Amino acid sequence: MTFHKNSIKLAGLYLAIMMLISFFFSINIYQLSVQEFDRGLRRPEPALNIPGGPGFSIQIRDQLQQDRDQRYEDAKDRVVNRLLLVNLLILVSGGILSYFLALRTLKPIEEAHEAQSRFTADASHELRTPITAMRSENEVALMNPKLTLSQARQQIKSNIEELEKLTDLSDGLLRLARLENNNIKRDTIKISNLIAKAVDRAVPIAEKKNILITAQSDTAASVSGDESSLMEAIVILLDNAVKYSPAKSKVIVRAITKQKNVVIQVIDTGAGIKATELPHIFDRFYRADSSRSKQKITGYGLGLAIAKNIIEMHGGTVAADSKPGVGSTFTIVLPN
Ligand code: ADP
Repeated sequence: MTFHKNSIKLAGLYLAIMMLISFFFSINIYQLSVQEFDRGLRRPEPALNIPGGPGFSIQIRDQLQQDRDQRYEDAKDRVVNRLLLVNLLILVSGGILSYFLALRTLKPIEEAHEAQSRFTADASHELRTPITAMRSENEVALMNPKLTLSQARQQIKSNIEELEKLTDLSDGLLRLARLENNNIKRDTIKISNLIAKAVDRAVPIAEKKNILITAQSDTAASVSGDESSLMEAIVILLDNAVKYSPAKSKVIVRAITKQKNVVIQVIDTGAGIKATELPHIFDRFYRADSSRSKQKITGYGLGLAIAKNIIEMHGGTVAADSKPGVGSTFTIVLPN
């Protein structure tokens, strides 16, 4: 509703500007035309030398003068009428044009605004859920007069777990906000080094599930960018590959040079992602149904959004290809 109101307001402003310009030109055209008519039609009639005496010639001269005055007035009226018609046409067509222009101008602003509101609502919801759970658990524990020391310890442990989740969430939110406001460093980074460092970071989590991460980096290529951010993006993909794969499976990370790009792929043989969910996994706070409910895998749906932001800031792209039950391949393409 406000969008519609604002569009009309902006269209009104556009139309007012158009009409102001149109009036300005109309007044000028009118003045110029009148000047021209003055020159052509309002010259006094020269004395006529007509046989029949001076009285007769004066009579004819006055008659001609009246004719000219009449034509002068008619010409002025015609100009005024034509200008009024043109202004009316501009008012109608300009009104329609202004409305569509206003819609076009406001649409991206409206979309950005909607995305911002959705983000705030999602973030508040994600923050609220653990806080509410923690609060009610604590209240129940407090109301229990026979609370034992071990129960109290258990409660504190559960509180700490929830607080850790909240810390992860606020870190993710902060990271996204910083990425949106920052310019990146431009160092030269060897891809093979980058992959090796990312694998080192992901190995401890993989080992917990007995998952083997293999790096195949057959490229001597380098990219320009911020090493720690790029590593963070690859670690996010590796962490996900481990998180959504069964124990004892394999994860491969490989890098190749293709034309003028470096292609980095993270391949797993895990749960996979449904075709209907694939287009949304890079959205902030999006979590596929399976990861939300059934398997109780922790996360807030911010990882892939952060990875995508990082890669796009480096002029690259990241995409996913997946088959449920077979596995997923995440592909990063970076300009070389
Ligand atoms: P999170 O893992 O915290 O839920 P992400 O933004 O990293 O958030 O991922 C979004 C969603 O994409 C996940 O919830 C999961 O459903 C899906 N996903 C991401 N990576 C994989 C993967 N390698 N295999 C299967 N599903 C994945």
